Amino acid sequence: AKHVGVLALQGDFREHKLMLERLGARVREVRLPAHLEGLGGLVVPGGESTTIGKLAAEYGLDAAVRAAYEAGTLAVWGTCAGAIWMAREILDYRQPHLGIMDIAVRRNAFGRQVDSFEADLEIEGLDAPFRAVFIRAPEIVRVGEGVRVRARYQDRVVFAEQDRLWATAFHPELTGDDRLHREFLERFVAS
Ligand code: GLN
Repeated sequence: AKHVGVLALQGDFREHKLMLERLGARVREVRLPAHLEGLGGLVVPGGESTTIGKLAAEYGLDAAVRAAYEAGTLAVWGTCAGAIWMAREILDYRQPHLGIMDIAVRRNAFGRQVDSFEADLEIEGLDAPFRAVFIRAPEIVRVGEGVRVRARYQDRVVFAEQDRLWATAFHPELTGDDRLHREFLERFVAS
């Protein structure tokens, strides 16, 4: 079986790791390019996208993740800060990022008064609503042609999929609902 990785530079990667392990996956913490060897998927956690971006660039991880994705062997799922890291364009900020996904994001897009909130989302492909936790979440403000929108919150895109790339503005690892982790494993990692 292939492994799944969690980018373990900063942020709440432990919660993702636990959820993936509970689903029976073999999970590897990724801190260096060599740790990508043999991975079918990589989950990039929430946290601080500026910090994640700087550390990833320093360790040569953006080039390595891009190469593995382009080779067709790696799926990448960015959650919250991880989604920001994956976006081609980040509005109003200049920060090192991976930029492989054809989306534009706005950081902290849901306003100061409501830094964090929860909402039940209709997600394309799931047959019942998904309880989503938003923490200083970004909004996906533009999606390119090959990008499928899988969920919106009040008309704003919060889950996009493009080829083997997923971007979710919310934190799917903080509730007991493991349906998205399960789908990611089944589609991109299992074999
Ligand atoms: N606000 C953070 C950022 O812009 C993301 C927050 C999160 O990952 N929960 O990097």
